[in-house]
Amino acid sequence: MSSLTNSLTVNAPAKVNYRLDVLSRRPNGYHDLHMIMQPVGLFDLVTVTLTETATITVCCEHVAVPEGADNIVYRAAEAMRERAGRHDGVTITIQKEIPVAAGMGGGSSDCAAVITALDQLYGLSLPCEELMAIGLRFGADVPFFLYGGTARAEGIGEVLSPVTVSCPVWMVLVNPMVPVSTAWVYQNFKLTQTGSNVTIPDSIEGLEELCSFLANDLERVTIPAFPVVGQIKQQLLNAGAYGALMSGSGPTVFGVFPDQAAAQAAAEQIRVCDAGWFVTVAPAIESWGNAAVTTD
Ligand code: ATP
Repeated sequence: MSSLTNSLTVNAPAKVNYRLDVLSRRPNGYHDLHMIMQPVGLFDLVTVTLTETATITVCCEHVAVPEGADNIVYRAAEAMRERAGRHDGVTITIQKEIPVAAGMGGGSSDCAAVITALDQLYGLSLPCEELMAIGLRFGADVPFFLYGGTARAEGIGEVLSPVTVSCPVWMVLVNPMVPVSTAWVYQNFKLTQTGSNVTIPDSIEGLEELCSFLANDLERVTIPAFPVVGQIKQQLLNAGAYGALMSGSGPTVFGVFPDQAAAQAAAEQIRVCDAGWFVTVAPAIESWGNAAVTTD
């Protein structure tokens, strides 16, 4: 008797930006960027189940995450279902571990996870380029999560090429638990120069070299509005981080450490302040798999 896989639970990792240069503003309001993006081992769990009804359902218990059609994964599921020529239903459950509106790409990663899961559940095995093109319709960071691994990102973030980082990188991620709107940050960003004079190499050898690239133009908007971001950077450096930077539009800050023990010691030091912040330790990762498969 043949059995069919009808449910997949997929890891949806967070990301940080080791570098984010804003190069220019497009007439449509989007910005041309020059970034180094890094997947991080902090995961939402996204369970996608095919159902016999015709509806798409999105469930998430996190108070700040919309359910149903307002969640960005809903339209991604619609697009994949249309691509497969299917009419059956899809139920998506998101277990949120990545802080929301935090500069860690949680919504985009969930979206990529749903695209990946439906590609497998529908038996499509589409080329990565096609999955990335579908994902781009729902967010500039979605292709990165489908690409996999450390990447140089250009264009609005969708032109990706690999960057090899040949040393372990452990991070302490600190989020002060104030949501920051990405759209607000870009609207308030003032271009002071056009073009980045930094060339990102294909390969980065050590932590010192990696830290020499750490820079984020968006700190100029977020830190004056949320000074706690600057305070967290300083605390991470005081706790021994080789470098510390705001990720994306913030407010999450990551500190870079050579090993897990050093990162954990720094995290403990920061937790002692008990400021109500989200503090966690996670490694830079290059790949991640499905968490669970259900067959009936
Ligand atoms: P970005 O820079 O892409 O906006 P971010 O990490 O700063 O990413 P997200 O956590 O993706 O921010 O949340 C951005 C907004 O999107 C939130 O206000 C949230 O309500 C909404 N949203 C919609 N779908 C999701 C989802 N699956 N997960 C998280 N937020 C979602």
